[in-house]
Amino acid sequence: MDLGITGRWAVVCAASKGLGKGCAAALAREGVNLVINARGKDALEATAAELRALNPAIEVKTVVGDVTQEDVREALLAAAPQVDILVNNAGGPPPGDFRDWRQEDWYKALDANMLTPIALIQRTADAMAERGYGRVINITSGAVKAPIDILGLSNGARSGLTGFIAGLARQPGLAGRNVTFNNLLPGPFETERLEKTLAVASKASGLTQDEVAQQRRKGIPAGRFGTSEEFGAFCAFLCSVHAGYMTGQNLLLDGGAYPGTF
Ligand code: NAP
Repeated sequence: MDLGITGRWAVVCAASKGLGKGCAAALAREGVNLVINARGKDALEATAAELRALNPAIEVKTVVGDVTQEDVREALLAAAPQVDILVNNAGGPPPGDFRDWRQEDWYKALDANMLTPIALIQRTADAMAERGYGRVINITSGAVKAPIDILGLSNGARSGLTGFIAGLARQPGLAGRNVTFNNLLPGPFETERLEKTLAVASKASGLTQDEVAQQRRKGIPAGRFGTSEEFGAFCAFLCSVHAGYMTGQNLLLDGGAYPGTF
């Protein structure tokens, strides 16, 4: 299927590794020019080189820095001649006990997982509407639908973004101008973040990391963790010309782990 987005420009935040990189790679394969970002320069440049090799016909620009910083966001937007596709992503907040979280911890979580995506949307949505094409994808978490107790900072901040997007997506000035906003909710995907989570669980339980992973896989009907490639492919479809009639949705990719009908 031709996704119809060759030559478009995408800003993909937090994209040197994991799910963000998966999205950037899938868009690169479709001929989308990219501006990608992460804090670590070496990994970001290595990913940019991989993307250029994947599709030599596209332009790939990099912006090093923390996407929660306004100057970094401005640099990201300035690097793209126009933003047709925006993939919002950042690291997730740490797990913990709600008794220990101070206001500062909440501000950090809200900044990364709610206010930063909103700030980028504020700066790009109207121009997308004027041009009659826009796709905004927010990488959130399966924890928005099935909250995990130790991830309270993530549950709270991402639910805030989810509520905001639900209202925004339905504004006629955006939905009626072919600008869509959808959230992708990953369950467990094989990334560095998952490895870190498994390492913490292994330490706490006394089981080896492999045993913890095996237990986690048993709770997933698909019997495995997802891959960044399949996450990226789904994201690219949502960015395509074919997905213009879907907006304001929360799409769970979790191998069937969530047991409900809706
Ligand atoms: P990952 O493998 O750790 O990769 C995170 C990427 O984001 C890296 O490229 C990292 O590079 C970059 N990054 C992190 N914080 C950043 C910031 N403030 N500014 C710019 N770049 C930043 O993580 P992932 O598994 O792909 O997860 C992506 C998102 O999905 C996270 O919010 C995570 O909580 C959520 N999620 C993941 C899973 C899963 O199973 N993987 C499940 C549910 C939710 P630098 O460190 O160099 O900046």
